[in-house]
Amino acid sequence: MRLILLGPPGAGKGTQASGIVKKYNIPHISTGDIFRKNIKEGTELGIKAKEYMNKGLLVPDELVVAIVKDRLVQDDCKKGFLLDGFPRTVAQADALDIELKNLKYNLDKVINIEVSKDELIKRAVGRRICKECGGTYHLIFNPSKTEGVCDECGGELYQRKDDNEETVTKRIEEYLNKTQPLINYYEKQDKIVNIDGKQDIDKVYEDILKALGGE
Ligand code: ADP
Ligand code: AMP
Repeated sequence: MRLILLGPPGAGKGTQASGIVKKYNIPHISTGDIFRKNIKEGTELGIKAKEYMNKGLLVPDELVVAIVKDRLVQDDCKKGFLLDGFPRTVAQADALDIELKNLKYNLDKVINIEVSKDELIKRAVGRRICKECGGTYHLIFNPSKTEGVCDECGGELYQRKDDNEETVTKRIEEYLNKTQPLINYYEKQDKIVNIDGKQDIDKVYEDILKALGGE
């Protein structure tokens, strides 16, 4: 299965990705996660990306496209992949089309998770992430059993630096200007499935599986 998860920041892409990649046994490729790992490790890529991420801006296309191209040629992507948070601009989508053609990979579906702006801000501001395994929680909507501790691995939960109201508002603006046009882009390729992301996490997952032809 070769999939893209599209949707505004805080829509629930990462949350849904964890179930989808287990179900289809495919690698989860989140450009945001790759950048955060590089920031943690202090790499040159991390230093460059951080400048944009902390302001709620998109990282320049050439940096993002290069890391995704490197990732897609790896062996584990032969069985399929889930791209989460990439592409985010038309230029990135064009570059991806070319790369997929080169690799003779056909995209199956683009899952577009729809959520209103007010809800996005609430979701992002209350988001907490495990430092160890990357598991995603929400203080109110999806709390861990013990506050501040990951249910899965016992790791410490933290709040992303860009998950404050001001930066989230900027990220939503970037989404509306630069990423939303991709809905039409993939509609033209007849790949889009629209999913109501306002429902409970389990119901969203159920709808995604149905749209992919699973149960
Ligand atoms: P994205 O990857 O699209 O930025 P996340 O999956 O990290 O979004 O979800 C953002 C926040 O919203 C997280 O705190 C997550 O626990 C919460 N969340 C995800 N899906 C739902 C949902 N269907 N209902 C309520 N909260 C949700
Ligand atoms: P995410 O983890 O998907 O919410 O992404 C966090 C931040 O990483 C975004 O606000 C951007 O600054 C950057 N980022 C992640 N993916 C991309 C992308 N495909 N294009 C540009 N910037 C990205």
